[in-house]
Amino acid sequence: MEKVIGIDLGTTNSCVAIVENGSPVVIPNRGGYKTTPSMVAVTEAGKRIVGHIAKRQAITNAENTVYAAKRLIGRKWNSPQVKNSVATSSYRIVEGPHADVRIVLREKEYSVPEISAMILQEMKVIAEDYLGEPVKKAVVTVPAYFNDNQRQATKDAGEIAGLDVIRIINEPTAAALAYGFGRNLEKTVAVYDFGGGTFDISILEIAQNGVFKVIATAGDTFLGGEDIDARVIDWLVQGFKTEHNVDLRQDRMALQRLKDAAEKAKCELSAVRETEINLPFIISSGRNEALHLQRTLDRKTLEELSADLVERTVEICKQTLEDAKLEKKDVEEVILVGGMTRMPKIQEAVAQFFDREPGKGVHPDEVVALGASIQGAALVDDKQEMILLDVTPHALGIMTFGNFFEELIPANTTVPTHRTKVFTTSRDNQTAVKILVMQGDSEKAEENELLGEFILTGLRRAPKGTVEVEVTFEINADGIVSVRAKDLETSLEQSIQVTATSGLTRDEISSMIQNAQGELLDRRASEEFETHRQEAEKLIAEIERLFPQVEQIVATSDFGRDAIDKARNIVDRAKQAIARKDLDAVKEHVEGLSRTQRMFKGVVART
Ligand code: AMP
Repeated sequence: MEKVIGIDLGTTNSCVAIVENGSPVVIPNRGGYKTTPSMVAVTEAGKRIVGHIAKRQAITNAENTVYAAKRLIGRKWNSPQVKNSVATSSYRIVEGPHADVRIVLREKEYSVPEISAMILQEMKVIAEDYLGEPVKKAVVTVPAYFNDNQRQATKDAGEIAGLDVIRIINEPTAAALAYGFGRNLEKTVAVYDFGGGTFDISILEIAQNGVFKVIATAGDTFLGGEDIDARVIDWLVQGFKTEHNVDLRQDRMALQRLKDAAEKAKCELSAVRETEINLPFIISSGRNEALHLQRTLDRKTLEELSADLVERTVEICKQTLEDAKLEKKDVEEVILVGGMTRMPKIQEAVAQFFDREPGKGVHPDEVVALGASIQGAALVDDKQEMILLDVTPHALGIMTFGNFFEELIPANTTVPTHRTKVFTTSRDNQTAVKILVMQGDSEKAEENELLGEFILTGLRRAPKGTVEVEVTFEINADGIVSVRAKDLETSLEQSIQVTATSGLTRDEISSMIQNAQGELLDRRASEEFETHRQEAEKLIAEIERLFPQVEQIVATSDFGRDAIDKARNIVDRAKQAIARKDLDAVKEHVEGLSRTQRMFKGVVART
C-alpha cells in the first residue's frame, strides 16, 4: 500500500508521522528530535537552511531568518495581522504582486507558500531518510479556524514542496483522531489547541464504530505563544527604556535575542516559579559603552502579562459550547494540544472552565501529526473503518446590494457540502454578472474575507429577469471552496473568471515547484557529496598516518616504491576531487583509497 505521511505544519515547530504496522509513529529528524523548528534561513553564502540549523544561527542572521511564516500564509498585505508582523518581525516583509505578502531574504523575494514549502520539503526528506524510499502523498494539518485562502495557500505550499496533499485536516480534529484511534470510544470531547501562533477549540463526538464527528469549532488564527512572548518582550523593552533610555527595538539583532530569551523564560516558568533573563552586551549606549540586560521574571508576572490572552481563549471555548448547543457537563474529556498548554495557568484556566481536569494521555507536540498520519492511512486503505466528519469554521456567502453579506453555508456545517443559488439578470441585455464570494461571520460584507470575484460572462441577451444562472458553491473535505455556474435554460456550464485575491497564479506555482525541486536536488547532491567526502578524508588520514611506516618497510624494492607512488598519486587526486567538489570523482577515489588503506594495513600487520 502506498505510504502517506502526516505533517503537522506548525507556527513554531513541525512534526511528521506515519502509520507503520497499524500504529502511528512520529519520525525523528537526523538530530533525533521529534519536532523540527519551522524556521528557514538563507546564509551569507546563499545557502538555504531549515529547522534546527536555521534556529541556531537566527541571532547572528536575524534579517534572513524566517520564523512564524504560518501567521502570514494566505493573508492579504493590508490585513491588520500582516501589519502587526511587519512591525514586529526581524525579517523584511513586503507587498507582493497580488496584494499578498512576500518575504525578503538576501535581496530575493519569496512568497509565503514557498517558505512553508521549504519546511514541508524538510519534513518530506526526514520521512524519506527514515523510510529509505521516496514519499509523495501527505495529509497536512491546518488550524481549524483557517479560512479558504489560508487552506489554499497551504495546499500550494505542499505542491511546491513536491507533495501530493491528499487531504487538509484541522489540527484539533487530528488530535482527536490520535486520541480515539483504536480505542472504541463513545464520548464527547473538547480539544483545546493552543500553539505557537494559533488557538483552536473543537468539540467532537466520537462514536463506537470509528466515527469522528466535529460538532463545532472556533478559534483565532492570530493568538498564540508568540503573543505571550511579545508581552514579555514589551515588558523587557519597557524596563530597559526606563533604566537606560535606550530603545532595544531599533536593533534587529537585539530584538532577536530578546525574542529568544522571552520564549525561553516563558517555557522555564512552566516548571519553576522564577527565572533570570540575562543578555550581556545587548546594545551599545551610543557612548561607546555596552549595555547589559538583566532581569528576573516570576510566574505571577508572566501570568499577569498574559491574562487577557488566556481569557480570550476561554471566551472562545464558551462561544463554541453555545454553538454546539452543549453544556459544560456534556463534555466528557478535554484534550490539551499545542506547546502553550504546558503553561500551568492555561491548564488551570481550562480545568476551571470545563469543570474537569484535562486528560494527560496525549503528547501535545506529537498528537496532531499522529492524527494526520492516521487519516492518511485511512484514505489509502479501503479496509480501514474510520469516518471523519468535519465542519467549516466560517460561513460562506456572497456580497449583496448595500454591502450586505448573504450567508449561503453557515459556519459549523459538516463538509463536504454544497448550496446552489439562482441569479437572474437585473438589466435588459445584461451579458455578465459579477459575484463576490466571501467567508466570515459578520453581516457586513467588508468585515469578511473576500475569497474571489467570479464574473459570469457570455450570458444570452434577453430582457431583464429572464436569464437565470444557477451557481453552486461547494466546500470540499479540505475545507476548500469552489464555484460552478450553469445557465438554466441552455444547461451550459458558464465560464467563470477567477481573480486571485491573494493566492498565487498557476504559472507562479509551476515556477516555484521547479525552483524547489532544483534546490532539493542540489541539497541531496551536496549531502551525498558530504557523505563521500567524509569517507574519503577518513581514508586519506589513515593512509597518511601509515605512510612513514609503510615506506620504511617497502622502500627497498622497486615494486614497493611503485606502490608507494601509486598510493601518493591516488591520495593527491582524491584531495583534488574534494577541492573541486566533484562528486563522481570522489566516489570513484573512495574505492581506490580503501584498497590502498587495506594494503597499507596489511603491510604493517605482517611486519
Ligand atoms: P506548537 O505550535 O504546538 O509547537 O507550540 C509552540 C508554542 O508552545 C511556543 O510558543 C512555545 O514557546 C510554547 N511552549 C513550548 N513548551 C512550553 C512550555 N514548557 N511552557 C510554556 N510554553 C511552551
